[in-house]
Amino acid sequence: MTPASGPMMRLDLHCHSEASHDCLTPLTTFPDRCLARGVVVQAVTDHDQIWGAQQLQQFVRNSEFADRFTVIVGEEVSTREGEIVGLFLQERIPPGLSPEETVREIKAQGGLVLLPHGFDPLKRHRLRPAARERIADQIDIVESFNARISRPKWNRAAETWARARNLPVSGGSDAHTWRQLGDAWTEVPRRSVDTPQDLLEVLHLGSVLGEWTHPVRAFVYKQLVQWKERRGSATYGR
Ligand SMILES: [Zn+2]
Repeated sequence: MTPASGPMMRLDLHCHSEASHDCLTPLTTFPDRCLARGVVVQAVTDHDQIWGAQQLQQFVRNSEFADRFTVIVGEEVSTREGEIVGLFLQERIPPGLSPEETVREIKAQGGLVLLPHGFDPLKRHRLRPAARERIADQIDIVESFNARISRPKWNRAAETWARARNLPVSGGSDAHTWRQLGDAWTEVPRRSVDTPQDLLEVLHLGSVLGEWTHPVRAFVYKQLVQWKERRGSATYGR
């Protein structure tokens, strides 16, 4: 890794919005919240949906945030053998395909394949190890810091696997509440990230960092926030 100098910025390549079945975070809270945490590039990766990410990207491009906040349209796709994230998507990829078919769909759209929380045996929806090995040469990015992993050692296992294959690594908050946005990130030199190539180049100069939250604490906190959101009494701050 080349030590970077000059202004830096943060990328969070994994999070959820109100477009996910298990998340209520309003899309409108993203720009302020992400920027308050230093996140300048946010991939929105809802479960089997891309409409939220597309709406947010459109909104940002036509807003005062256009020159300082970038949204990457992604999707955390439920394949038959666990989850795979596609980044830079144009169209929704349906759930229930094989991992190979899902990867083919992502690449056909010019997108990148990111392996999220790929080593955590307690994540029910992680990509199965056999599937991971079958598509290994199609993976573009490995998430080596997921803030919602069950134990930090599973992040270290992901990093070891990625380094052995010389693949770029990334941080992802996997936020399911507005407050968790930016809990993990890749710190990279400040530059625009508009294309898959831009992203891969900048990740090679990055450092992955984050704040891990114990899963029990994260679960209790999510229940509390979502209870308030359902009652309409949530306050979204910075
Ligand atoms: Zn996720």
